[in-house]
Amino acid sequence: MSYDLDHVTASCPCPCGKGEIVYGSGTNDWNQTRDGMMEIWCSDCCKKYKFSKNGLLPVDFPDYQGDPIIKDKMDKLQYRISNYDGTTPERISQYLSEEECEKYKARDFSIASTLRDSKKLADDYSLEELQEAAEKISAAKYSTQLTGIALELAQRHKRWNKTIRLQNVIVPILMAIRNYALYKKADKEDGQDKAKLQKQLDEYKAEYYKDYDAYEKKRLQNLIPFELKERSR
Ligand SMILES: [Zn+2]
Repeated sequence: MSYDLDHVTASCPCPCGKGEIVYGSGTNDWNQTRDGMMEIWCSDCCKKYKFSKNGLLPVDFPDYQGDPIIKDKMDKLQYRISNYDGTTPERISQYLSEEECEKYKARDFSIASTLRDSKKLADDYSLEELQEAAEKISAAKYSTQLTGIALELAQRHKRWNKTIRLQNVIVPILMAIRNYALYKKADKEDGQDKAKLQKQLDEYKAEYYKDYDAYEKKRLQNLIPFELKERSR
């Protein structure tokens, strides 16, 4: 869905002087808006130039290109970091009982969801807080009897799972308590692993951008700077 720049807030003349460079917000056919749009409103200049940092460049001026093999490695590594998933089958078999494991393998949604909830609980609460809340919830008959963190956890459960039945609320809490030490150990391992991947990525980046200074010098030599002036309303 394309946006039409229909509200200009700043502008300045284009390089040839017959038209202008405009900045503002646009709307699409669905009436959604987008800020920070910039266009060249000149039939000649829009064919000759493209936007670059702090100015315009000839349309055929190349983008920076490092070693494509390293770029490929960078992209793959970046994807791995962005989509890092610590729930390996080995860990899951430690987190779940044999019976739960069977259900998990059979793609039982409730087990996967409980596992996820319990991990979030361990992220957000101390072991002592969870233990105290679990005791209170076990002793209570209705959620209306709860206070403090126990109440908070019941309400949290309701937000995620649309139920506040205490026999359901307690399930992920007990799993979080049971796996607390394992979750923390996994977090530590993942943190170290991610730091290693990040370090490797930084090394690839340094290698990929090693000629960037020379490129930037050339880019600046070809750059046509412009200065937008705010339009009075
Ligand atoms: Zn022009």
